[in-house]
Amino acid sequence: MGLVGIERLKGIVGAENVKDNKADLYVYGSDASVHEAMPSIVVKPTTIEEVQSIMRYANSELIPVIPRGSASSTSGHTVPIDGGIVMDLKGMNKILEIRPQDIYCKVEPGVIDDDLNRALKPYNFFWPPAPASSRIATIGGEIGANASGLRSVKYGATRDVVLGMRVVLANGDLITLGSNTRVTTAGYPIERIMIGSEGTLGIVVEATLKIIPLPKLRCLGIAKFNKVEDAGNAVTNVISNGASPSMLELMDNIGITAVNKNLNLGLPDVAAIILFEADGMIKESVDYEMEKIKNICEENKGFDIEMSYDVKERSRIYTGRKKLFASLSRYKEGIICTDLADDMAVPNSKISECAYMIHEIAKRNNVIMSVYGHCGSGVIHTKIMFDVTKKSHWDDANRAATQLYDYVHSVGGTTSGEHGIGLSKAPFWKKEKADSLNVMRAIKKALDPNNILNPHKLQDAPDDWVTATKLRYIAK
Ligand SMILES: Cc1cc2nc3c(=O)[nH]c(=O)nc-3n(C[C@H](O)[C@H](O)[C@H](O)COP(=O)(O)OP(=O)(O)OC[C@H]3O[C@@H](n4cnc5c(N)ncnc54)[C@H](O)[C@@H]3O)c2cc1C
Repeated sequence: MGLVGIERLKGIVGAENVKDNKADLYVYGSDASVHEAMPSIVVKPTTIEEVQSIMRYANSELIPVIPRGSASSTSGHTVPIDGGIVMDLKGMNKILEIRPQDIYCKVEPGVIDDDLNRALKPYNFFWPPAPASSRIATIGGEIGANASGLRSVKYGATRDVVLGMRVVLANGDLITLGSNTRVTTAGYPIERIMIGSEGTLGIVVEATLKIIPLPKLRCLGIAKFNKVEDAGNAVTNVISNGASPSMLELMDNIGITAVNKNLNLGLPDVAAIILFEADGMIKESVDYEMEKIKNICEENKGFDIEMSYDVKERSRIYTGRKKLFASLSRYKEGIICTDLADDMAVPNSKISECAYMIHEIAKRNNVIMSVYGHCGSGVIHTKIMFDVTKKSHWDDANRAATQLYDYVHSVGGTTSGEHGIGLSKAPFWKKEKADSLNVMRAIKKALDPNNILNPHKLQDAPDDWVTATKLRYIAK
């Protein structure tokens, strides 16, 4: 970016909120994915007016703008593959209102999920998406990716608990979407299109979030299984038999080993475990749910089932689950955990089969692939783990990802149930959505005619991302 542009941006947000030295640009060139690219400049607005001015300038000069929260995205969502302005929104981090009687709160986009929940606790409310990254994930990023997590099986994903928002469009206009009410009708629900749009349609500068009364009680159970397929069947049957867990997580032995190695948690060394939780206001109703889930696990060959209301024990297990992704990179010396295949969702009856297929495809292609995730919502996570310094291993990993997504689509599943598309998963997702890509392109064109907002993502992402983008690893 030329001197004039830099000065213009400094004039908008102040020199202290503009970064253009190489070290900073490098840091802002990657997220939790395998991709990287250098931005031209980083700006950190703190007000809506500043966001509007940046967008007006960028639109007039046709400069790409990539909105960014904490960049914990796993597939290259925030990687600026065309350079341009990375807009760091973490400085807009005020909780504007908490209105328990109206059951909503209003926040700026840079508020961190855990911080919001800490602020809601004294009011006996919570905001439920709870991605495993809640310690760093911003509300803007959760909206951008339609994040979901540990409790989505009962309370839904981000899209289910956002009532409205204010958005700065590509041309700098500020619009208000949705409402403050629990129901609204008529007109196109554009706020819902914004959720999961990965920063391609507008900059969310304020969000109205539906908050939920905090349950008085939570009970956590662990069931062991000798086969991951049995654990998958248990998940299917818990959901289809009308139980109402507030958490239903599966973890295979790869995940268990990684977490034990990294955190010394002492999780049982079995083929798979299910972590299940019920919550509520009355102990009898929580006990009833827990007993129901326990029985279904036992009917599906679950054994040694333990259940506890103990807060310390629960927080020890939640920590293990939340740090599973990070732990996987320590599973074995010399391998790195990648998100080439990541967070597909399958119909409820296919969880066991999908878990089996992940391990089978890993064997066929000489890579390691874990099975875990918020399976109660149908989301099965995997990671493809391999030696990223070897070119031939990338070929193995890409073949494994292709085979897995072909399987997922063949059973009516979807490419991403949780983390979003970014760059790595775009070829598979574009295949899945082939007949609606042009409608998405028309929406993008209507809202961002100059294609400056996070360009080359989602429907416009390159099909051959391995050669079209720069990877963070050098493979020979
Ligand atoms: C260890 C780990 C665990 C994870 N666990 C989960 C999980 O359980 N569930 C889950 O869903 N995800 C998970 N993720 C993925 C990721 O953390 C979530 O998607 C999270 O919501 C992203 O938040 P962020 O602030 O880092 O957003 P970013 O990564 O910065 O941005 C996400 C997307 O939103 C866009 N964006 C950001 N802010 C705005 C804004 N204000 N307006 C418009 N667009 C915006 C960006 O351009 C990008 O496309 C995990 C990631 C890691 C590294």
